Amino acid sequence: MKKIILIQFLLLVALYSEARELRIGLFYANSPKRVTMNYNVGRYTFFSENKSYKTLSNKTDKIVFIAEGDKVTAYYNNKTIGTNTWFRLEKNSEQNSLTLTDGKTTRPYQGNFVVYSIKGKIKIVNEIAIDKYVEGVIKGEAGYGYELEYYKVQAVISRTYALHHQKHKYEGFDLCDHTHCQVYKGINDRSNISDAVNQTAEEVLVDSSLNYINTLFHSNCGGNTVTTDFVWSKRLPCMERVKDTFCLNSSQAKWKKTVSKSSWISFLAAETKKPTSYFSDKKLNFEQTERKEFYSVGNQNVRLVNIRQKYRLKSTYFSVYEIGNQIVLIGRGYGHGVGLCQEGGIVMSKTHSYRDILYFYYQDVSIMNISKVEYYRLF
Ligand SMILES: [Zn+2]
Ligand SMILES: [Zn+2]
Repeated sequence: MKKIILIQFLLLVALYSEARELRIGLFYANSPKRVTMNYNVGRYTFFSENKSYKTLSNKTDKIVFIAEGDKVTAYYNNKTIGTNTWFRLEKNSEQNSLTLTDGKTTRPYQGNFVVYSIKGKIKIVNEIAIDKYVEGVIKGEAGYGYELEYYKVQAVISRTYALHHQKHKYEGFDLCDHTHCQVYKGINDRSNISDAVNQTAEEVLVDSSLNYINTLFHSNCGGNTVTTDFVWSKRLPCMERVKDTFCLNSSQAKWKKTVSKSSWISFLAAETKKPTSYFSDKKLNFEQTERKEFYSVGNQNVRLVNIRQKYRLKSTYFSVYEIGNQIVLIGRGYGHGVGLCQEGGIVMSKTHSYRDILYFYYQDVSIMNISKVEYYRLF
């Protein structure tokens, strides 16, 4: 019996690992009318609806796609080859890649490509193995020059995020390549990033019900992370308050901003629907040693996230000092403060493992292989 279960499990692992691809919407922020694909590595078969075109296999081969309404016209080596609702380029090996450009950015990508048009804008869906995608995300989101353990943290987080957030199903893909989802910049060429992804292959963060968690992160928490209800309306599990001493000397640990007292009072009046005279004779000073949700003056409370948004502040973790006609804000950290503190994680990675870091910033979670998660979910 045990043997049968083991065989079933191994079969499932093989099946899922084989099929695990994501569909990524490329050039999402630019919405180009025209995209060019240049030959890079390997042979690509090129086809559409009922038609097969020439194989893309020479160094000089290129295809230009131009959107017109809900159709796309393709030009193969400068010759028109047809107008269709979609075109597809399919790789014949995992190493294949094409260089794509929309005139603003030019990058090599691996995997398969589907090209179509929505309202005169080219849509390109890149079908890519999840770990190749994760490598491209780390390149886009974390940058270069960190410890291997830190890249492993980012690998587990990005992989989990990709499975948790699939925000573009209605547009025909899973995630876009922009900050709206995760910044994805195509093929990664750094060996420590690929090592981190390979050494954490399949690993994701799940809660006790085996759901992929919403792996939120930010640049610097200023010494305290915060729960999601302080930032948005809903309290999400697995991201409790953490006292973080690792990020205190990092580059985004402190900030300062000055605003005029008249602007400050007008804003408070508008937020609370009180006359400005209500605030004119009140003490406007405010201390935040621990993170708070509201700024309080008299019996009025204003959400700190609203103040952050209005004055484009780096964080909600600030104290207020009234100095003459000025309001001086002395702040800590950068970002919403929920989940992983990246600068804290970077410092921690010099002395701690990626597992320690993940379990420090996320609570009641397990690091698990995707195949295992999917297998246990069957019962
Ligand atoms: Zn998106
Ligand atoms: Zn921190």
